[in-house]
Amino acid sequence: MYYGFDVGGTKIEFGAFNEKLERVATERVPTPTSDYQELLDVIAGLVSKYDQEFQCEGKIGLGLPGMEDADTGAILTVNIPAAKGQPLRKDLEAKIGRSVKVDNDANCFALSEAWDDELKDAPSVMGLILGTGFGGGLVYEGKIFSGRNHVAGELGHMRLPIDAWFHLGENAPLFACGCDKKGCIDNYLSGRGFEMLYAHYYGEQKKAIEIIKAQAEGEPKAVEFVEMFMEFLAICFANIFTGNDPHVVVLGGGLSNYDLIYEEMPKRVPKHLLSVAKCPKIVKAKHGDSGGVRGAAFLNIK
Ligand SMILES: [Zn+2]
Repeated sequence: MYYGFDVGGTKIEFGAFNEKLERVATERVPTPTSDYQELLDVIAGLVSKYDQEFQCEGKIGLGLPGMEDADTGAILTVNIPAAKGQPLRKDLEAKIGRSVKVDNDANCFALSEAWDDELKDAPSVMGLILGTGFGGGLVYEGKIFSGRNHVAGELGHMRLPIDAWFHLGENAPLFACGCDKKGCIDNYLSGRGFEMLYAHYYGEQKKAIEIIKAQAEGEPKAVEFVEMFMEFLAICFANIFTGNDPHVVVLGGGLSNYDLIYEEMPKRVPKHLLSVAKCPKIVKAKHGDSGGVRGAAFLNIK
């Protein structure tokens, strides 16, 4: 049995998956706001409850909005104060008496999609989230690749490629990022970035959904903006794909529901790739909100 915990700022979602990777249990509990011991107790309590229910020792994976410091194991997160700076994995392992895996929630999203029935034979899957921010994860042969510092999928903090910058034109906005750098693609390719770019060029604060609707209705500013944005997205994707050459790319997050992306990228990405390269298959995420807990559980498959 595989146990996944999607630890968020307000709730912890638990899921148990059997050997066929079917979900057989679900439970949601509030995330302790600041008490670290309580957080350990809540997780250990759920493990013990479901071990009894299934008469087994489930393999444990945790996904959270943050990551472990590669050297100390301290959790680096702003969204879960109870876990911040704590050696969560080591303490849970000591408390429960078995190994625990911990990974970033964007990596868990990618892993969840990579183990979808239709994609599980793909040698490499890149998950990209176009949500409030832009993030991702890299899965090779069914396993997350997270690099020396666990930041391998943090594509949102790459700075804009030079051809993307030129595409934005003379009036290109240089957005500052929460990571203290400027020009991180997190602020351009996300749903939020889509809205910020529109506001920059047209002087109006509009929701992404309103811009998309206006484009579909043929409103000239929205049509012009979406044309510019699709090419911009294709340029950024092509730069990312050139560095990683994934077999399949899965998109998640709010903006990934924009169906035009799946029509436009295969047409637009190839001209920005090396001439020997083909555009990878780009598909919409299938597991939506349960991606975090699935991916956390699947940390133990390989
Ligand atoms: Zn950044």
